[in-house]
Parts: sequence; structure tokens; C-alpha cells
Amino acid sequence: MCGIVGYVGKHKAAPFIIEGLKRLEYRGYDSAGVAVLQDGGFTVAKKIGRVANLEVEAAKIKLNGNYGIGHTRWATHGGVTDANAHPHISSDGQIAMIHNGVIENYSKIKKFLLEKGYTFKSETDTEVLCNLVAYHYAKEPVSADESRFVSAVRKSLRHAEGTYGIVIMALDAPGELVTARKGSPLILGIGDGESIVASDVAAIVSRTQSVVYLKDNEVAHLTPKDFTITTLEAGEVTPVIDKVNWSIEDSEMGNYAHFMEKEIFEQPTALENAMRGRFAEDGSTAQFGGLNISPNEFRQIDRFMFCACGTALHACMVTEHQIERFARLPVECDYASEFRYRNIPLFRNTLFFVMSQSGETIDTLAAMREAKRKGYKVLAINNVVGSTIAREADGGIYQHVGPEVGVASTKAFTSQLLIGAMLALYIGRMRDLSFGAGQRYVTALKSSPDLVRKALLQAPHIKEIAKRYAHYTDMLFLGRLSLFPIALEGALKLKEISYIHAEGYPAAEMKHGPIALISEKCPSVFLAPNGEILNKIVSSMQEIKARKGKIIAIITEGVELPEGLADETIVVPDCHEAVLPIVYSVPVQLLSYYIAVERGCDVDKPRNLAKSVTVE
Ligand code: GLU
Repeated sequence: MCGIVGYVGKHKAAPFIIEGLKRLEYRGYDSAGVAVLQDGGFTVAKKIGRVANLEVEAAKIKLNGNYGIGHTRWATHGGVTDANAHPHISSDGQIAMIHNGVIENYSKIKKFLLEKGYTFKSETDTEVLCNLVAYHYAKEPVSADESRFVSAVRKSLRHAEGTYGIVIMALDAPGELVTARKGSPLILGIGDGESIVASDVAAIVSRTQSVVYLKDNEVAHLTPKDFTITTLEAGEVTPVIDKVNWSIEDSEMGNYAHFMEKEIFEQPTALENAMRGRFAEDGSTAQFGGLNISPNEFRQIDRFMFCACGTALHACMVTEHQIERFARLPVECDYASEFRYRNIPLFRNTLFFVMSQSGETIDTLAAMREAKRKGYKVLAINNVVGSTIAREADGGIYQHVGPEVGVASTKAFTSQLLIGAMLALYIGRMRDLSFGAGQRYVTALKSSPDLVRKALLQAPHIKEIAKRYAHYTDMLFLGRLSLFPIALEGALKLKEISYIHAEGYPAAEMKHGPIALISEKCPSVFLAPNGEILNKIVSSMQEIKARKGKIIAIITEGVELPEGLADETIVVPDCHEAVLPIVYSVPVQLLSYYIAVERGCDVDKPRNLAKSVTVE
């Protein structure tokens, strides 16, 4: 959460920072601000709302300096006000800071600083840390072997409990930035006569593709020409410079109305990218480069545990179904936020998986660290190369779908489903899945981009349906087996972007409670593919119909429902059950998207949400 950009270099800082904040706005959009060091002082512009508001504010003042920091906030401590917006300036005017994360012991530090005469203008934990740095900076002797600035930051951070990604300027250190992280992502961009720090490469790639991923408990000192990294304990760090392969176009909207729309329609290509080079030559199984676990070791595993949050957890639940169905091994899924504190008993030969698009989700990261601490191997499925989870995992599988900007995940979700299905195949082929069944499975997975293309052809029809359903305030999504998690995902999407209350349920379970909600005011979306329990799903539909509930039925080609049962019908291609959840994701995404658009909602930046949840 929260977008961070810091710049020191030969160009003006503010235009670059504001441009970067626009690219990072999906990470938090309660307020935005920029501070530039110029004419012997900090010039600050900050405003609640979007970066566009900040731009208007910034245009009123001259921001000419070459050194600056900027932030988009997702408020944790203190309301959404101009005063709480970042950057914060210490009360002695010496230090400017932006921060992502939560300083858990801020009230204790604040008490200490108040006694020392420091004063506060905001309610944030960030302003407390900013003043703590000012306190240490004022006390710090000028030493020959280390920058006074870095030393003061290091001392302050030793007292800070919680999580942070910070970038700091000091009034009497023009041309220098100090940045440090613990639990929040930060990336250094190494340019030609300029240095950048940002929470996401999207804000860096317009200037340089050479990056350094900062690790937890590292402190970096940046000047236009140079950078050094040390640990919090002042140990030396030899930086590794990576090359990013994302271009600026990847994170632009093109001709689409929203990133979410673009990303829904990008799914066929995203799936092709996610499966490229990942099938064995004999066409009967999957192969993965980075698992770092031998087939022999894999063969010893007799149980899997998956942890994730939000949409990624739904992908894990589908994967659970696929592994149990095709590899005949037990799988357990848990909310990462619960797992980390539950202390559940785990079987000895359990292999742990975490899923996170960003690879920075703090709860998922914590669950992974907890599993590792207990001695388990953890493999990660994530999209952002070089992310914290990817680096700390014992191995893993990248999704390779390019940047996902829409807060509501779409292409990342379907690629997680695909990778989950490939994993089930890989494990299944080590066990009881025959060569022929493996080949049929591979053929099915390879056809998924075309099946999704076909499902996308329903978009105009779904748009019309959305117009008729956008005024409802409650909705149920009902599915069974591997489509139950897709029902959960449909309900989550609708809630997230259109603010309609929605619930996902196993279709038959509906009669044990949610049926009480049914009336002409609460429609139900049924995921009703051809298959052995179609008749059971049809019975559930009848029960809804008998209570005057409207029905949107998403069926596969060839399914014939009793006359008049469904009020609306959406038809998707019939396919192998390994691919079914991917195909069914398309109509539920489109339905929520068009309903949200019809209601005039800000689809890419839904209220109270932000992408990549890096606070607990
Ligand atoms: N805790 C800080 C605040 O509430 C930082 C929030 C963020 O990560 O955007 O201002």
C-alpha cells in the first residue's frame, strides 16, 4: 500500500515524482504529496484525494529543485486530511519524510519527543518517526567515516517497531536521500546522473531499467552519481543490480476505459505468457524452472498447505480442488492473516505454497516466514519479479503476466488458476494420472487462451444484463466444486468495485441460510456448467425461483435449462474441468465490471481499497 517516489539528479524532481505517483496511484489514493529541497528549504505541496488534486496544488507554487520525495497515502493512522498527508516535516524543520507501513510503538516515541520539545501537526505515526530522525540528527556528531544523516536514520530505526519503507531528506544535506525498509517494498533505480527510489518499478522504468531491490533491514544512501547500501547494524552490503524487463507501455491503459477492462481483455495473452515453455516435450505434463525441489523430494510430499489473501486465496481454493481431484493428495487452504497466528499442527511431509500477485502482501509474507521458521519449505506463486516473497521463498513459479494496475485482480487471478492447474497436473503425473489423461489435460490447458477469447465475446451481452441489474443492493453467487471459489470471487469482485453487497456460496448450501435473503430484490448468479451435478444445480435454481428470486445463469454450450427458469443466460464454451474455473472467471469479472461502470463507480480505484496490501 502507498506509493513512494524519491529523486536526486540532474533534472527537476517534482514533474518526475508526480508522474511516478500517477503510475503508483493504485497503491493508495487517500491523499498525495510532494516535497522538494530548494532555495535552502523544503517546499511542500499536499492534498487529499487523487494525484490530479496534488498536480493542481503543485502548479500554484514553484517546485524547481532537483531533490525531492513524493507519496500517495493509504491512511492507517489518522484520517484522510491534508495535514495527515505525506511528506511530513520535523518540527525543527530539518527532516522531510515519506513512509509506507505502520510504526506500532509510535505513541511511546511521541511521548518521549513531546518531552524533548518536539511538536506535531498531524495524527500520523509517520510524523513521529520523522521527528525521531530529527532528534537523532540534531544529536549526531559529524564523523569522518559515515554520513551523519545515515547514522541518525539508523539510530532512529533501531527504536521503531512495526513496518516501514521510508525515504528521507535532510535540510543541510542537499543532493542526498536516505531510504530504508522493513516489510514494505522499495526499489532503487540507478540512472545516468540520477538516482531514484520507488515502491514499484512502474515509477522507475521511464528513466532506467537498472534496479536494486532493497532488502529488509537495509539502509541506502543515494546521491545523483552514487549509492551505497548498509544494514541497520552498519554492516556492508554488496548490491546486486538487476535489469527490469517491463516497459512503460505495459503499465499504460491504451484505448480502454479502465485498467480493469484492459486487464480482463488481456487474459488470453496473459495465459499464453504464463504457460510458455512450461509443458514437457511429450505433451503429458507440466515443467517448472524455479521450484528448486527435485522430483524425488516432491514424491515424498503427502500434503500441501496453501496460504494467501483475497482473490489469491480463491485461486488457492481452486488449486486445492484440482490437486485433490487430479493428484489425489490432500490440500489445506488458509487465510494468510489467520495462519500466522493460529499455530496449527502441520504434518511432517507438507509442502507449503503462498500466492500473491505483488509478492509483497504483508500477511502472506508473514505466513511464509512462520512456515519457514517451523522448518517447512515454502514455494511462492507470484507475478512481480524480485518481490520480497519471491526472494525469500525456497523456490517458486512466476506468473509472467506483466503489471496488473487495476485494484481488482483479473489477469493475475486467471494466471494463478492456470498455474494451479499445471501444478495439479505435474503432481498428478508423478502419481496416478496416466500418460493419456495427462495429454488430454495439457491439450485442455493449451486451449485456455482461445476458450477465454470465446468467453470474452459475451461482453456486449453481459453489458446489457448489467444495465438491468446495476440497481440491486444484494446479490448471491452460487457455484459448486471447483466453481465454488469462482462464486466467492464473483461476489468479492462485485463488492469491491460496485459496493453491492454480495455473497458467494456453494449452490446447495444456500438453502441452509442465505435463502432467507431471497426475494425479488436479491438476484442470484448461478455457475451452472454441464456435468454430473448439473441437475442438482438446476434444483437449487428452482428453489430460488419458487421464492421470486431472479436468476442469471452462466451455462456451458449445450446446457438446456427448463423453460423460463433463468431470467438471463450467459453461455460460455464447454471445456475440460481443469480449465473450467478459468473460463467461468471471465463472465463474473465482466458482470461486476459493467455493473460498477453502470453505477458510476471508480472501477480502478475502489473506495477504501488499495492494491498490494503491505500493512497488517
Ligand atoms: N501509517 C502511515 C499513515 O497512516 C503510512 C500509511 C501508508 O502506508 O500510506 O500515514
